[in-house]
Amino acid sequence: MSTAVATSLQLPHFINGEWVESAAGEWLDVPNPATDEVLARVPLASADEVNRAVEAAAAAFPAWRRTPPEDRIQPLFRLKALLETEIDDLSRTITQENGKTFAEAKAEMRRAIENVEVACGIPMMMQGYNLEDVARGIDETMIRQPLGVVAVITPSNFPGMIPFWFLPYAIATGNTVVLKPSERVPMAAQKIVELFAKAGVPKGVLNLVNGGRVAAETLIDHPAVRAVSFVGSTPAARAVYARAGANGKRAQCQGGAKNHVVVLPDADMEMATQIISDSAFGCAGQRCLAVSVAVTVGEAQRSFREAIAESASRLRVGYGLDEGVQMGPVISQQSKSRIESLVGRGKDEGAKVILDGRGAKVSGYEQGSFVKPTILDAVAATSELTDTEIFGPVLSLVHADDLDEALAFLERSPYGNQASLFTSSGAAARRFRYEAPAGNIGINIGVAAPMAYFPFSGWKDSFFGIMHAQGRDGVEFFTEKKVVVERWAKEHSRKF
Ligand code: NAD
Repeated sequence: MSTAVATSLQLPHFINGEWVESAAGEWLDVPNPATDEVLARVPLASADEVNRAVEAAAAAFPAWRRTPPEDRIQPLFRLKALLETEIDDLSRTITQENGKTFAEAKAEMRRAIENVEVACGIPMMMQGYNLEDVARGIDETMIRQPLGVVAVITPSNFPGMIPFWFLPYAIATGNTVVLKPSERVPMAAQKIVELFAKAGVPKGVLNLVNGGRVAAETLIDHPAVRAVSFVGSTPAARAVYARAGANGKRAQCQGGAKNHVVVLPDADMEMATQIISDSAFGCAGQRCLAVSVAVTVGEAQRSFREAIAESASRLRVGYGLDEGVQMGPVISQQSKSRIESLVGRGKDEGAKVILDGRGAKVSGYEQGSFVKPTILDAVAATSELTDTEIFGPVLSLVHADDLDEALAFLERSPYGNQASLFTSSGAAARRFRYEAPAGNIGINIGVAAPMAYFPFSGWKDSFFGIMHAQGRDGVEFFTEKKVVVERWAKEHSRKF
């Protein structure tokens, strides 16, 4: 055991304020997806190790919930300063384990920091409300109290940002936490947890266990865990939501996506092309808000198709730490094979591959999991591809005669994470905002990622639950309401 984050290849857990070597029987390599170099080895925690982390969190809860909110946010102010100092180091780690470019990793960390800033307002955000004289001499008050131990289970595509959708809010509202990061990108989380500890978050308040599905399920089932915050693919989100529900626990489970952008003929085509290209191919298409289907309306079809193919073919693909690289590899070799076989299936079903990024090789990084920007045109509405989350740099083009047809296309999608419209018409924009069946709407925006003081919404199979991540929803999710009705008869105060 030690108090400093381990530098060896074998990643430790963080339990009760200490870095603890894992005795897990199973370990995975963590490769750099650009070079295939093994960066670390991650343990798949046994139930025993997970239980120890939950017990540490449970033991820390009584003192932490009694700590005034004003005192609970002081470590967050220090954390914000530490994150600003360490942002380059954290971003480099994210690029190494996830593959996105350094600039993308840094942008991700900015979003993380934003959540720390918002959670510093907990003394205001956590307030309840009250009313005197709900009946004669009777007053009623609603107060918010923390839940206890909460589990946070995060995915591979935003190793730096997504833990921050939950940790600052959970901790500042007085809960204690066990974080289980994705076993595919566990290194940024080590640094993040170390910074929380450095900032003065007391031992046991934030714990980290490394692991996969078994560790996640052990957390969800543990009787001391009161709530589960989850982000990942839809099948996993659905399973976690069902499991938490069966255990009588609240859960917020964000799932996968298949995001549409509708391009109207009156859009500023140059701007639309640039922004849609960034959205579809940025982070190698592995954002949950990446545009993956562009629906062109009327005359937009031809001009957009040519412009996007031209713009995407110019993107410089390579190792995200190298100067000038605009797109990194996908997360793994398995992911590359999966993406390439889906493109092949699309082609077999009649789509035209107008830009083919399969079989990509990047000089100097021959072992990397690279897929270059790929564009499929004329994807049939009935094709499997229209409903499958490809999760790679692949943009499908479909065509609609008018906005009605485009909206009907969106309506059929099982997902509802984001929908965007490019237009110069206010009326079309209003209609789209009103009718588009998705939780995050972009108007002339490619990645409509809500700021930390708005909920990261998501509808249909992209989200299971009621309260979303971030902002006020975070506060609601991590607290329980208590209502107090009080009567103090006059005679009780007579003696004073
Ligand atoms: P994933 O589902 O493979 O894993 C996510 C996390 O869940 C990991 O920590 C993993 O260990 C755990 N896990 C996997 N299966 C589980 C199960 N059956 N029960 C409990 N835990 C389980 O996802 P990923 O590939 O790491 O991440 C990419 C996915 O996440 C994409 O589908 C993407 O769209 C989605 N995502 C969604 C949002 C959103 O806000 N909706 C944000 C980011 C990523």
